[in-house]
Amino acid sequence: MVRYILGIESTAHTFGIGLVSSDGSEVLDFSHTYTPKIGGIHPREAAEHHTKIAPILLRRVLEYIANRRGKIVAVGFARGPGLGPCLRVGATLARALAMRFLVPLYGVHHAIAHIEIAKKLTGLCNPLTILVSGGHTVIASKEGNRYRIWGETLDISLGNLIDMFMRAAGYPSPAGPLCEKLARETQEYIEIPYVVKGTDLSFSGILSVLKEKLKQGIDIKILCRSLQETAFAMLCEVVERALAHSEKKEILLCGGVANNKRLQEMLKIVAEEYEARFAVPNKWNGDNGAMIAYTTLLYYTNNAKPLKIEESYVLPLWRLDQVVLPY
Ligand code: AMP
Ligand code: MG
Repeated sequence: MVRYILGIESTAHTFGIGLVSSDGSEVLDFSHTYTPKIGGIHPREAAEHHTKIAPILLRRVLEYIANRRGKIVAVGFARGPGLGPCLRVGATLARALAMRFLVPLYGVHHAIAHIEIAKKLTGLCNPLTILVSGGHTVIASKEGNRYRIWGETLDISLGNLIDMFMRAAGYPSPAGPLCEKLARETQEYIEIPYVVKGTDLSFSGILSVLKEKLKQGIDIKILCRSLQETAFAMLCEVVERALAHSEKKEILLCGGVANNKRLQEMLKIVAEEYEARFAVPNKWNGDNGAMIAYTTLLYYTNNAKPLKIEESYVLPLWRLDQVVLPY
């Protein structure tokens, strides 16, 4: 009988249920993303989406397990960080499942889950990780039982910079792929603020200037290219500094923005200079359930203490470096 660990993601726009077999050989994802027609993610609307899609995905997952004659041995959920109403949909379902199947419940950190699944997919063991997504812009590495943050954004995330700028130009979110495409269509570049503070980054000033330039009628392609070249160069500078200090020999790029080919190209150059291996997962860079199931497996196999149901409240502002890992 296959023993499955089930994991639920619901921190923001994606509701996902992941399954992983207890030996880690089988990892599956059943997820669905809410895309607002205009504007950014509205927490209540996203939560409503999750509530509607959850039973449909759960039925599919339970059927899959039944067909394999498998059983659920542990349940995990993304406990934070994220949007409160969205987090609570996943947490409520996770609690119900853990009680129904009488199995342990674990709450995992969303960003750590991004990193762990990326490590599994790329085979990197001890990387300096660059997590760039809608919710995160952080450079971190695992030291002992914690992830240590080398550098991070001081305001908005890189994904937010891209999406908020593209929204100002009239494009619905997420618009990272479109920004990448438009940037590729020009060689022109204009100077915009470049803000690196030690190993931290700031993107909100760039956003203001880009919006201003947009109003002045500057071509969107030039602005997309300038955004990418500037923001990615800032990230590369911080990564170089972290590499020099940490002496890591592996660089892992993950999160939704990791799909960007220009960012990959620039970081590859940094990696070559430092003789480090560079890798990007070929899937599951955006939010998904598989990463939560896989990280829950790490908790489960390392005999982590399960959460008590009555103490399994969500943590919308949970920081990456606050988490003490059982491995
Ligand atoms: P996540 O929060 O991990 O689901 O990632 C979503 C973020 O990744 C959004 O801000 C997207 O705009 C961004 N994104 C996705 N693909 C790309 C791309 N090719 N280039 C830049 N950003 C991207
Ligand atoms: Mg994410």
